[in-house]
Amino acid sequence: METQQEQKIIFSAIKPTGELTLGNYIGAVKNWLALQEQYFCYYAAADLHAITVDIAAADLRSRTLDLFAMLVALGINPDKSVLFVQSHVSAHAELAWVLNCCTQFGEARRMTQFKDKSLKGDDKLNVGLFSYPILMAADILLYNAQYVPIGKDQQQHLELARTVAERFNSRYSPTFTVPQGFYPQFGAKIYSLSNPKVKMAKSEDDVNACVFLTDDADVIRRKLRRAVTDSETEIRYDTELKAGVSNLLTIYASVTDTDVLAAEAEFRGKTYAQLKEKTAEAVIERLRPVTERFKKIRTDKAYLAACMKAGAERAAQTARKTLGKVYRKIGLSGG
Ligand code: AMP
Repeated sequence: METQQEQKIIFSAIKPTGELTLGNYIGAVKNWLALQEQYFCYYAAADLHAITVDIAAADLRSRTLDLFAMLVALGINPDKSVLFVQSHVSAHAELAWVLNCCTQFGEARRMTQFKDKSLKGDDKLNVGLFSYPILMAADILLYNAQYVPIGKDQQQHLELARTVAERFNSRYSPTFTVPQGFYPQFGAKIYSLSNPKVKMAKSEDDVNACVFLTDDADVIRRKLRRAVTDSETEIRYDTELKAGVSNLLTIYASVTDTDVLAAEAEFRGKTYAQLKEKTAEAVIERLRPVTERFKKIRTDKAYLAACMKAGAERAAQTARKTLGKVYRKIGLSGG
């Protein structure tokens, strides 16, 4: 087996702000599973990022446990990958402060995600929401990650992490690995079942738009049966003209580990009702063992606590080394 020194390092995280969706599974976690076979992976439940929006303490606590348990249930192997909760490793917040002082205000202000939100005129947006890309840079740089699997929406933030790392390295001396985006081969984007032009995300307004990984079989069948398609009858992969059908084909292909063209061929001549039915059954089949494992792990408080502790200790070992180096180089005597 390769050692950590020989393997490329990956960092990725998900915020515990809501239940995981089928979009999170297909777009992110499914890739995490493949990556852990080849790379040395750090995977985090990013609870510090979750508090940039209002979230009740009890919700944050239970959602962090839900997310952690679900990641293990989905197949993230805590003995292999370093799976941990971000706030359990204090170096994240500490390095973020240092990087705040290495980031120009103008650079942070250009981040479009914050700009979009602030343009909506909400004065109550907190400063954390403005500076979270800098915390994200700290998350990545602490572990010398070469690769960060990201979607298009996070590209600009990764660019900021690279800029800050390069600035630090040239001002002091080479310290941080400058990370690259990693665009997984199978990184499919999943769209809302009610409006296939927008991303599938937890939606307050429409309970049928989104499949949650904890939904039971009947709920999954109902949601897929109601999925919006179009007024034609032909099953064809065409994201422009047939967004709903293409979304169903993508979901079917992802949960059966095939590709959309094979899925398209399989459904040629079939009805939309058959496509929905078979997609629902395939999703249910894929999630059945996951749901069973999730229930077991989520109720085993001692196992979860031990797993979180072990993950945090492994993560902290690397993180403290990086932070110590950073402190020494800039002249902070705590280094
Ligand atoms: P979020 O839930 O938006 O914090 O996203 C967590 C991870 O899941 C990120 O890597 C996202 O790119 C991915 N993700 C979330 N929703 C979708 C979706 N509908 N399709 C594909 N990937 C998604």
